[in-house]
Amino acid sequence: MAQEFDVLVIGGGPAGYVAAIRAAQLGLKTACCEFNAYADPKGEPRLGGTCLNVGCIPSKALLYSSELYDHATHAFLMHGIKVEGVSIDVPSMIRRKDNIVTQLTGGIKGLFKKYKVNFLAGHGSFIAEVDGLWKMKVGNEEVLAKHVIVATGSRARHLPGIPVDNALVVDNEGALKTEAVPKRLGVIGAGVIGLEMGSVWKRLGSEVTILEAVPDFLSAADQAVAKEAWKVFTSKQGLKIHLGVQIKEVSTGPNGVSIKYENDDGDQILECDKLVVAVGRVPNTDGLNAAAVGLKLDAKGRIEVDDHCSTNLRNVWAVGDVVRGPMLAHKGMEEGVMVAECIVGQAGHCNYDTIPWVIYTQPEIAWVGKTEQDLKAAGIPYKAGQIPFMANGRALGQGDTTGFVKVLAHAETDQILGAHIIGTNASELIAEAVVAMEFGASAEDMGRICHAHPTLSEVMHEAALAVDKRTLHF
Ligand code: FAD
Repeated sequence: MAQEFDVLVIGGGPAGYVAAIRAAQLGLKTACCEFNAYADPKGEPRLGGTCLNVGCIPSKALLYSSELYDHATHAFLMHGIKVEGVSIDVPSMIRRKDNIVTQLTGGIKGLFKKYKVNFLAGHGSFIAEVDGLWKMKVGNEEVLAKHVIVATGSRARHLPGIPVDNALVVDNEGALKTEAVPKRLGVIGAGVIGLEMGSVWKRLGSEVTILEAVPDFLSAADQAVAKEAWKVFTSKQGLKIHLGVQIKEVSTGPNGVSIKYENDDGDQILECDKLVVAVGRVPNTDGLNAAAVGLKLDAKGRIEVDDHCSTNLRNVWAVGDVVRGPMLAHKGMEEGVMVAECIVGQAGHCNYDTIPWVIYTQPEIAWVGKTEQDLKAAGIPYKAGQIPFMANGRALGQGDTTGFVKVLAHAETDQILGAHIIGTNASELIAEAVVAMEFGASAEDMGRICHAHPTLSEVMHEAALAVDKRTLHF
């Protein structure tokens, strides 16, 4: 007889495993199925999806290792620390990253046991709705569920005519497995993943060239942040970034990869030893049997959902990268919690206006809410306060003074509408602005909060004070 559940979650990435844990915590009989996309050495599916296996976590592990190497080779000297004969053992760096992935993905299996989520190894798809229950296929078994949460995530977008072999031409998966520093690294795509991957290998000694189709650099970020990032990445760090290019042809041979492209100056050729293709992600909806049950997709192939992640089918929900909105792990997790709470009749919600964005380059870039260009375009009157890290004692002590914090507030109500950081620890500092915005704080509220001294968080404090031109240390 088919097993019956209150909730079946399809996909064990951050959106899916969090939805499953929350549903089980709320007393629902819950299962989560995951197929073999990220199998362990024994062929068992690993939980954690893109994020834990080939995304957020492994990339941040490599970013940190490469940052330490960069410090040892460049930054230590200013502190009077002389380190001689520094070298990098890339395979050891990769093994360390692999161990972190194994530890975390195994940890989710432990959480499933703790919260009594049934883990089903196998590919999940719809069969039909029968007597108010969803009849589903998981591997070779049939399973019945009152509610289905689709959390099948996304995979790397590949470009037509550019075959990814994950040896010479790699996507995020191959880029995170590279065992030697390529002398010349090419990257297609100057988005978050391209910049992060480019940074890792640049710090370890590669000559990195990034080709980007869009003529503007980091167009989603506040323009002042994007301008500062461009200056630091290109002039100070030596990343070569070409914007507005059109890729014509990519070929591989014994000497590596050759990329023919066109820009304003005409036809160009980039020769490199390895090429990373980082041109975005496509939602995983194939194989769900979506069309047969009438599950509606949007024009971009994502599952269409409302503000509460409910699909057009009764008791079918979808969360994470497979639906609209930013492809970020924490956004998917919030949606997972929201849906589980909605299923039991609670007021689950996700505030899409306060989802933080982070780019883990050095300096880090982080923001929440509206950019100045958003506010101008919408005709919203605003005031801006901007403070450089150079004015902060802690940043000076650390020798890390690049960048600034900018706070944007409504000109009449003073409510904080956005915060933008480029600088050291931006990923951690942005949390204060997220909390402030979530509570509807004004710039004055933030300016009246006592911040520990000396800390980097004082830059956020001063930026809030700067909104009303009453800074104390600048
Ligand atoms: P996924 O993580 O893609 O998980 C979906 C899971 O569903 C997969 O395990 C897949 O195998 C499984 N699956 C698919 N179809 C089926 C099926 N039919 N049956 C059973 N199982 C199925 N985000 C951040 O917030 N911060 C970062 O720093 C960050 N860094 C990133 C770095 C890189 C290199 C990449 C590629 C991504 C990064 N992301 C980051 C994005 C983040 O990884 C995704 O937003 C997040 O993983 C999406 O979660 P998800 O659960 O929706 O999907």
